[in-house]
Amino acid sequence: MTVPGKTIELITSELSSGKTTARAVAVRSLAAAENLNDTLNAFLQIDRAGATRRAEELDREAGTDGAADSIVQGQNAATESLLRAVPIAVKDNICVRGLQATCGSRILAGYHPPYDATVVERLRAAGAVIVGKTNCDEFAMGSSNENSAFGPVRNPWDTERVPGGSSGGSAAAVAARVVPAALGSETGGSVRQPAALCGVVGVKPTYGRVSRYGLVAFGSSLDQVSVFGLTVKDAAVVLQTIAGRDERDATTADVSVPDYAAQLADDIRGARVGVPRELLGEGVDADVRARVEEAIEAYRELGVEIVDVALPHAKYSIAVYYIIATAEASSNLARYDGVRYGYRTEDPEDLRQMYRRTRDEGFGAEVKRRIMLGTYVLSSGYYDAYYLKAQKVRTLIQQDFLDAFDVCDAVLTPTTPTPAFRLGEKTDDPLSMYLSDIYTCMANLAGVPGVSVPCGLSSAGLPVGFQLMGRHWGESTILRLAHAYEQAHPLDARPRVMAEE
Ligand code: GLN
Repeated sequence: MTVPGKTIELITSELSSGKTTARAVAVRSLAAAENLNDTLNAFLQIDRAGATRRAEELDREAGTDGAADSIVQGQNAATESLLRAVPIAVKDNICVRGLQATCGSRILAGYHPPYDATVVERLRAAGAVIVGKTNCDEFAMGSSNENSAFGPVRNPWDTERVPGGSSGGSAAAVAARVVPAALGSETGGSVRQPAALCGVVGVKPTYGRVSRYGLVAFGSSLDQVSVFGLTVKDAAVVLQTIAGRDERDATTADVSVPDYAAQLADDIRGARVGVPRELLGEGVDADVRARVEEAIEAYRELGVEIVDVALPHAKYSIAVYYIIATAEASSNLARYDGVRYGYRTEDPEDLRQMYRRTRDEGFGAEVKRRIMLGTYVLSSGYYDAYYLKAQKVRTLIQQDFLDAFDVCDAVLTPTTPTPAFRLGEKTDDPLSMYLSDIYTCMANLAGVPGVSVPCGLSSAGLPVGFQLMGRHWGESTILRLAHAYEQAHPLDARPRVMAEE
């Protein structure tokens, strides 16, 4: 049993055996993106011309177009990498030269960044073909993709339901087999949560592992570019390509990047997985609890030792996250003033009115709510009561993880409290929407890595995911554990909406 669809490994083996060409791979992915977009709305821009051109170039370099005399050697050995000709989708808050970067917002409509994000530069150097920019919640604020100014993304398993957010378009594109991997971003769970809701793998690296240069800032102390994969291996290969120190982002650490993919097969017997039982009680959907209990059992059978751990401050993580993330957002979003980027209001009477009207017309309701909340918690009378206190509790949450990792190698929880909810179900109740991040945002606050892995379906046929969180810089360990589970229990069911094979 394997996961259905074309993984990176399958694409690259078909290429090297001459069964297909880079052009054919790109054409298939582009056609799927275009054909499914009416149904899913996963892409905000599909780069047919750019992707085809790049694929043809790769074919020429490899001599697979038959024109062997025109072989051009790539500038580096990376063209031989595992990502050669692999189609990849990129969330619309990550800069790709020549393509738009709207961040799902009207205020950035028409903005075309003149440069590639470091992660995109590294993907390209490794031979990847960028097929397009994916839909997302406005400025990555949301858990359902319903906050996009360009309409919601729909879940390929059930188009009446949300794909999760904020990286919903990337999650749906991978789930529908348009691409084997996609980039998203995480501030509080925006890759792991949609990965769980769409039945794919999502990895958030350690804070500082991946460059944020070219990622539009939301909460700078929390943001990390993160990866979706059809399988753990797909995600691992992409992560090792984009990870590592970048001179252009001073928060990237000079920590060596392991060959994650090569280490996936290492033995997991004897590893210790910690389960914070208090997080599996109230508020968790019965199907989610059942699937996660089965995953815990599966680990026991794989020779993993299951231990009890406590994360006593985890219950404050939503409150802390929505103070720190909004505070940082209120300051980061001050730059959208109608002068430097994208949208500007028409015929303002003076400069003040231009700023005001541009921001009023350009931002959506949730973004405005966050800017106001963030400005409030930073204001002089409330700074100590909210922002400062939240920072202190953030340290306690991080300490909980350090204590847990004294007795285990990874902490396992559900990724989300429920499977995918219906479109419109939570839009009038921000608090209930925020609670979708209850298991994910603690890893962002602590800076630790996390991976969401599909673990079967609910009784209604919707995917469920569990999450493993690891030590700082310990991506290898959680990816290996995730891979071992996936090998034993691959999600072999297919979403209703899926590209033809
Ligand atoms: N859903 C969370 C929020 O709305 C997390 C978003 C994210 O990780 N970008 O802030």
